[in-house]
Amino acid sequence: MSKRDYYEVLGVGRDASDEDIKKAYRRLAMKHHPDRNPDHPKSEERFKEAKEAYEILSDASKRKAYDQFGHAGVDQNGGAGFGGGGFGGFGGQGFADAFGDIFGDIFGGGGSGGRRSSNVYRGADLRYNLEISLEEAAHGTETKIRIPTLEECEACHGTGAKAGTQPTVCPTCGGHGQVRMQQGFFSIQQTCPRCNGSGKIIANPCSSCSGNGRIKKQKTLAVKIPAGVDEGDRIRLSGEGEAGVNGGPPGDLYVVIHIKPHAMFKREHNDLHCEMPISFATAALGGEIEIPTLDGSAKLKIPAETQTGRVFRLRGKGIKGVRTHAFGDMLCHVVVETPVSLTERQKELLQEFETLSMQNQSTHQPRAKSWMDKVKEFFAQ
Ligand SMILES: [Zn+2]
Ligand SMILES: [Zn+2]
Repeated sequence: MSKRDYYEVLGVGRDASDEDIKKAYRRLAMKHHPDRNPDHPKSEERFKEAKEAYEILSDASKRKAYDQFGHAGVDQNGGAGFGGGGFGGFGGQGFADAFGDIFGDIFGGGGSGGRRSSNVYRGADLRYNLEISLEEAAHGTETKIRIPTLEECEACHGTGAKAGTQPTVCPTCGGHGQVRMQQGFFSIQQTCPRCNGSGKIIANPCSSCSGNGRIKKQKTLAVKIPAGVDEGDRIRLSGEGEAGVNGGPPGDLYVVIHIKPHAMFKREHNDLHCEMPISFATAALGGEIEIPTLDGSAKLKIPAETQTGRVFRLRGKGIKGVRTHAFGDMLCHVVVETPVSLTERQKELLQEFETLSMQNQSTHQPRAKSWMDKVKEFFAQ
């Protein structure tokens, strides 16, 4: 099977800039997109061909290899994203997803206007912000969300015409939605002014949808949140976005995860941090304390002579990563709490304690001692 030259496919010169290549690809992709040419199997081939050429020529190193060795320079490893079996995802999945960013602004916008060179649109993608608790994020949950969306009108089955009537083909553009205008030597294509690009004339609009063919509705969806999701993660519900226009595929729904602040824990990736106040006596003498985790509580041994700010790491007591499936750690930050609201007796004891400590400060308070020495040196200069 001999392939056409990639430059020839895109209709650009060998010295074309990246911008020229991108423009040429967009033009071809718009023209040959299978969504827009359902009755022309050749279009899909042309589309794939343009896509492949673009994949190579838009990548500086692949383009270099192609320039030097032709198809042989890029074919062996080129099968990853296209060609043979790699060209999956052509089915019901959204095109925006399958074909990456270049289509994002063409097909992602749905019916919002923009380019009206065809009357078949993919429905718009929707975004839903979902707030969940840290526990729900850690363990996974299932929830129901209600979203406003545009669905195909049941009364007219999306045609926009009153029951019993049919939209008629626009006589001005013959249903293409585009008309050619002759201006001097040039022939310019324009959106048909009569049908506004829809290609159809609706004499008796459907009363339910006012001729739009789509209706605003609230729909309830069950969403499964996998364990371990983090702030900003997106869950894609394929085909749950807005309905397409004139038979176009529906958009997708993206559920974006937001995690509510937790009273006890701060999350950092899959690790959890918590602050752990301990008494002055426990810090000095050591002891065992109970700390909360997302799965109940755990015991933590505090060694004698623990200073404030020390961090204890409990391995595997964090959150199980949604992608790595490995557990993060729990990091407990010790804060030694200065006792407050002391009774006379407590004050007495501390005073006595202080007197004893100061008799041998370098042993009992080495840090304070060395600091005091530095201060003395400083003033002695
Ligand atoms: Zn209707
Ligand atoms: Zn028209």
